[in-house]
Amino acid sequence: MTYDPSNIFAKILAGDIPAHKVFEDDSALVMMDIFPQSRGHTLVIPKAASRNLLDADPAVLSAVMPLVQRVARAAKAATGADGVRVAQFNEAPAGQTVFHLHFHVIPVFDGVALGTHGGGQADNAELATLAQAIAAAL
Ligand code: 5GP
Repeated sequence: MTYDPSNIFAKILAGDIPAHKVFEDDSALVMMDIFPQSRGHTLVIPKAASRNLLDADPAVLSAVMPLVQRVARAAKAATGADGVRVAQFNEAPAGQTVFHLHFHVIPVFDGVALGTHGGGQADNAELATLAQAIAAAL
């Protein structure tokens, strides 16, 4: 499988499609998931082109994991979550729907079941507020 640069995250990285950005530097973008599985569901996206973990450059993985940790801590603090799930899917049978490497950071709240993967779209104003709160906690 080769990388297809027409995927939606490539368009967001190029600035062609808007996103609720939490953080951006030369190597990664952090944004809110618009179909969140929980309040504060955030995506960490290395800018380097790869479909997923399987074809990623190990140097990219080394660089991005500390950011995943920072975002997990910030999302937990900003939302008051009781835990955080970090998930990452490789190829469609494993649940991957967007074929540009990304890590899900999903706050988990005691007694609240997670929504389905790729469920309903969140309110834009709420996503904007959450993006600001997580950014402030980074
Ligand atoms: P995957 O299934 O590939 O691991 O995750 C893709 C994620 O991207 C899903 O959780 C889905 O809700 C999210 N997503 C799909 N399209 C968009 C979009 O246009 N903007 C944002 N912010 N998230 C998206």
